[in-house]
Amino acid sequence: MARVICLSGAGLSADSGLSTFRGADGLWNNHRVDQVCNITRWKANFDVVHRFYNDLRTGLPKVEPNAMHRLLASWQDRFETVLITQNVDDLLERAGARDVLHLHGRLEEMLCVACGNVWNIGHRAYNPMEETCPACPCRKGVKPNVVFFGERAPAYLDLGRVLKSVTPEDVFVVIGTDGRVVPVGTIVAELKCRKVLNNLEPVSQDEWLPGMVHECLFNRAIFRPAVDAVEELDEIVSAWMAEVNDTPSAVA
Ligand SMILES: [Zn+2]
Repeated sequence: MARVICLSGAGLSADSGLSTFRGADGLWNNHRVDQVCNITRWKANFDVVHRFYNDLRTGLPKVEPNAMHRLLASWQDRFETVLITQNVDDLLERAGARDVLHLHGRLEEMLCVACGNVWNIGHRAYNPMEETCPACPCRKGVKPNVVFFGERAPAYLDLGRVLKSVTPEDVFVVIGTDGRVVPVGTIVAELKCRKVLNNLEPVSQDEWLPGMVHECLFNRAIFRPAVDAVEELDEIVSAWMAEVNDTPSAVA
């Protein structure tokens, strides 16, 4: 059975009001990357790291899933759909999506680097002075379960498994990522299936580096904000899936 496989990045959640981590008004401009998300330095900046991620986590309830999150969640009801995201927010889940593969972790989760325990604390602030890992007494080894620079990303193994299983009948959708962090361009270049891209704009020639996305790698490309691409993207994906799956095409 053909599947829809969707790999999303910051551009998916940008229209929900979440600052993208990079880009013109990115979060990194206000916080030094080395301080808040570097696996070799985070313990030296323990308080700052927790304050930074507490702000992001407690800010989650103030943003809402947008129409593109809802479209992706609805595909799971209509097609066999695998959702993979680089985003650490929970907007896909709050739009109703299930089993989302978070490549870079999740804001609502904490990780104990001492014992490997991962637990969910919802949208609340974590108190790094008083709380400890619930599975072992470690306090200084507790970090947000968000992949830092230099840190292993265990979910990349799952991504590799999904990519290996792609068949020519599948449909691969890329939304809101230029491939700067995860080499999406390299990934899609090797896939022998139909591919569609939705990004705000093409990567300019000056900025393009190997591994980044380029519209020539896709059968179709939509350059506009994700929330404004919902209808067209749904039409494209539904038509392709109808060809191979005999499923109803786009929902009105
Ligand atoms: Zn522990």
